[in-house]
Amino acid sequence: MHKDNQALIFELTREGRIGYSLPELDVPELDLSNLLPKGFVREEAAELPEVSELDIMRHYTALSNRNHGIDSGFYPLGSCTMKYNPKINESVARYPGFANIHPLQEESTVQGALEVLYDLQEHLVEITGMDEVTLQPAAGAHGEWTALMMIRAFHEANGDFKRTKVLVPDSAHGTNPASATVAGFDTITVKSGEDGLVDLEDLKRHVGDDTAALMLTNPNTLGLFEEEILEMAEIVHAAGGKLYYDGANLNAVMSKARPGDMGFDAVHLNLHKTFTGPHGGGGPGSGPVGVKKDLIPFLPKPVLVKKDEVYTFEYNLPQSIGRVKPFYGNFGIYLRAYTYIRSMGPDGLKAVTEYAVLNANYMMRRLEPHFDLPYNRHCKHEFVLSGRRQKKLGVRTLDMAKRLLDFGYHPPTIYFPLNVEEGMMIEPTETESKETLDAFCDALIQIAKEVEENPEIVQNAPHTTVINRLDETKAARFPVLRYTKA
Ligand SMILES: *Cc1c(COP(=O)(O)O)cnc(C)c1O
Repeated sequence: MHKDNQALIFELTREGRIGYSLPELDVPELDLSNLLPKGFVREEAAELPEVSELDIMRHYTALSNRNHGIDSGFYPLGSCTMKYNPKINESVARYPGFANIHPLQEESTVQGALEVLYDLQEHLVEITGMDEVTLQPAAGAHGEWTALMMIRAFHEANGDFKRTKVLVPDSAHGTNPASATVAGFDTITVKSGEDGLVDLEDLKRHVGDDTAALMLTNPNTLGLFEEEILEMAEIVHAAGGKLYYDGANLNAVMSKARPGDMGFDAVHLNLHKTFTGPHGGGGPGSGPVGVKKDLIPFLPKPVLVKKDEVYTFEYNLPQSIGRVKPFYGNFGIYLRAYTYIRSMGPDGLKAVTEYAVLNANYMMRRLEPHFDLPYNRHCKHEFVLSGRRQKKLGVRTLDMAKRLLDFGYHPPTIYFPLNVEEGMMIEPTETESKETLDAFCDALIQIAKEVEENPEIVQNAPHTTVINRLDETKAARFPVLRYTKA
């Protein structure tokens, strides 16, 4: 039960109360039973809440205030960074010339919108060091899958049908092995060494003439830069495989290093992470894919081209893997990413990377005395602590994450990557002030102290939130999908 007894909208219902006023119907009422197949027509009216306008506004405003987002507080989630959502993005996305166009309009009437897409592709080509970019994929994982399908088409076009394996380091984001499986490959795990970087000997053991690709994140999910990336690229290329770069969190290297220059053949970016698209609640996302020359013929179609100053979609691409997303993809997210890239400029994007890395290293060093730091080396945009020391005192990392809620923070990603015991992955992002970083570190340090002096307070956290600790497994497995009247 909710502590503050916030009623459900159905409990606020009073029969006959309405929250809208519409003019009287001045056309004949349609009899739907003649228009729809019988099985689809309701026999009884739906049971909907009956509330006044103020009731409904106050109800949802109160609920929205319980949400945690970057507009309400610090959000240091590692890996799946919830970043900056600049307000200028929102005004540009609402320009009537963009907001009111229809995806089925004639190309000649949406040249401005197509120009934005084309320019955005060009910017992403430059940022990634690739030869061409498709904007179609709807999310990071969708981009991974799209690129793997292209890599597969490439091998098959060469008559090379035995490349059934995709190599993925054990520190990879969970979507990597999942995408490889969905694309029809077998996933082979490559081990990381003591230093948290890919073990080259293990890589060599697995690479062969059945290798389709190596999927890699650099910096990896431990926030560490794979220093031997050029050597890895050589090993994989020498065996005829392709290199795939998971660029979901490009704020670690943007404007400093480019996947294309590191030897990668394909990369996906998450416009809804690095490029400031809001992605709370799972979307909408956008996962453009950049590729090198070899893979261009296999790009999803249609491909946006510019012919004599006119933007048009090219469909005649016999080797294309086909369309992967209806219409133009998630256009609203393109507008936000484009606005961000144009307003930052190359120097601005470089500063993003520098601050992301500086902030992460600053926090890592402030927290180092209080927690275990399994990989004690310069990090990039994020770092991973271990709660091993606290676990010995009977407090789990999960408990500390819950305790952070009492301090008003969204907890970091925990128990990931899997090779860190009691892991806590923290990514401050580049946009937070030193005061915010310090306040968060102070909270974690205070929690570490509580673990030693008064562990119950951490074990039973959170204490100040609307509801106490949930049974997360139960919440995920048995969601309450429908309110039933008592
Ligand atoms: C978020 C993320 C993904 C997946 O992106 P989605 O848009 O959630 O599908 C892949 N790799 C890394 C490293 C990520 O952080």
